[in-house]
Amino acid sequence: MRIHVLPESVAAQIAAGEVVERPASVVKELLENALDAGAQSIAIEVRQGGRRLIRVSDDGSGIPTDEVQVAFHRHSTNKITSASDLDAIQTLGFRGEALASIASVSQVTMVTRFAGEMAGTRVRIEGSHIVSSETVGAALGTVIAVENLFFNVPARLKFLRTKGTEKRHISSLVTRYAMAYPAVRFRLTHDGRLVFRSAGGSQLKEVLIDVYGLETARQMMEVGDSKTGDASRGTEHPAADVRVSGYTSAPALSRANRSHITLFVNGRWVQDQGLTFAVIQAYQTILMKGRYPVALIMVAVPPADVDVHVHPTKAEVRFREKRDVFSAVQRAVRRALVDSDDGRATRGESAAPGARSALASLQPVARFQAEMELPGAAAGQRLEPSQGSTESLQTIASEKAKLPLLRVVGQVGAAYIVAEGPGEIFLIDQHAAHERILYEQLMAQREEGLPTQTLLETAAVEVPPHEAALLEEHIGVLRRLGFMIEHFGGTTFTVRGMPALLGDVDPAAAIQGIADDLERGVGPMQKTIEKQIIMRVCQTAAVKAGQVLTQQELSAIVRRLEGSESPHTCPHGRPTMLHLSAEQLARQFGRR
Ligand code: ADP
Ligand code: MG
Repeated sequence: MRIHVLPESVAAQIAAGEVVERPASVVKELLENALDAGAQSIAIEVRQGGRRLIRVSDDGSGIPTDEVQVAFHRHSTNKITSASDLDAIQTLGFRGEALASIASVSQVTMVTRFAGEMAGTRVRIEGSHIVSSETVGAALGTVIAVENLFFNVPARLKFLRTKGTEKRHISSLVTRYAMAYPAVRFRLTHDGRLVFRSAGGSQLKEVLIDVYGLETARQMMEVGDSKTGDASRGTEHPAADVRVSGYTSAPALSRANRSHITLFVNGRWVQDQGLTFAVIQAYQTILMKGRYPVALIMVAVPPADVDVHVHPTKAEVRFREKRDVFSAVQRAVRRALVDSDDGRATRGESAAPGARSALASLQPVARFQAEMELPGAAAGQRLEPSQGSTESLQTIASEKAKLPLLRVVGQVGAAYIVAEGPGEIFLIDQHAAHERILYEQLMAQREEGLPTQTLLETAAVEVPPHEAALLEEHIGVLRRLGFMIEHFGGTTFTVRGMPALLGDVDPAAAIQGIADDLERGVGPMQKTIEKQIIMRVCQTAAVKAGQVLTQQELSAIVRRLEGSESPHTCPHGRPTMLHLSAEQLARQFGRR
């Protein structure tokens, strides 16, 4: 065969291979076009996972009659004119390839009416060939229907996943764009059923509720310029003009994989390993190994500082100052975490004697009432997150902040409480749960100062010299928290009383634990040190694994946990419970 130039339609199909990988890629390109056209409302209609039909309707600018056909040519765009424009891209599209590529592998019908024109245009294109073009009456904006995707590329068709998979890809794409563009109204239907809608004209927080549901959204914390503020930007990173905003999950909310970390750079959804890692790293010591946050992070940089022209699908970007962007993201997320109430995390378990006294202080809140309500406990029903976020939702901890009413089944291994909720099983770590309860109790009481219990005998406690200085420095906080402690001199402290919660805990062990914590270091803020000490007190006071508890004690823990604000994690960020839904059980037993 002689060397020859391929016909345009073949070349277009080859190029399409890069841009149009699957139905979701078509949706992405069409969404981006609608957004570039200034749409305020975008409706996406999908049939059979997008193979049969993808129809995107927008109320954007529309396309002038005499430009409709050329829009389908390769490298035709109204977004850039010269190569130098590539350095300052403000739009999502700029390659002028999407419509041409899509039209080369499907049957496309476009109806569009430009803002300044009385009538609209309807064109039909099949595998790059224009079949018809006519003047029609039409609403302002553009409706583009892509039918029978890959009808002329059997090889591609074969590689398409099941309808369900394609549907999930599309939902997760649409919900992500809805979050990035809260002002725009999105509506997604699949086979005639409404899958997702956002109200438009709103704030990101409201769209988070549309996407993840109220309970999950409630556990998301704002990441914002106001928080990264000028103070923290300081002089270390004066160069980068990077702005970070968005939302990220509180420690109690996590997922089993990183797919719920969504990144937008200048309004463009990107998959960037480095930035994803920056978010994960911000959670170091806060989330357990193998757990990942839910995050939606928007990065804004001057267009000249980012190259979006790395990949045909524009899913990858290259930053001029990669490290600045990385650290800006990491610091912004970390700051949101530290500012949140649950943020501080430390490690280390101290062996301590029995904690019955702390347990005794738990009141079985409304126990009888709770148990009577149990059978019809509809209030405890799980909130299913909307379709967009269902992908790999192998959550162990439930996303709910609050627990349903639980029936205590018993204790196993002298360490765990087994409990039953409406259609689900909970396995609760008694120590972690008790720690969480005490923590919230003490945090609530700390303003008035914690009750003290005088020791029968004054105890002398020795600590290493460098820790003595720290203890001395923070002795005021300790006193406020219920320690009657004095600096005796040198490295010795005398203790005459301790927080009542600590009961018969050895004063030396308690004080030394606190001194160790102080030495390991916390931020300079007094509040944080106080919290650190409270955490230590809770850890010391909480029941330990290995303690056999009575049914009443088990119930007391569970009842209090039900009333807890963040029942799913201990103050250190570790989970207090594992959770098995009836559905998971049925699946495990092959009932489904
Ligand atoms: P690009 O988006 O890279 O410019 P496309 O092939 O996606 O290339 O689209 C070609 C052109 O068609 C766009 O530059 C734009 O002018 C026009 N266009 C496509 N979709 C729309 C739409 N929904 N509303 C208005 N104009 C559109
Ligand atoms: Mg485009």
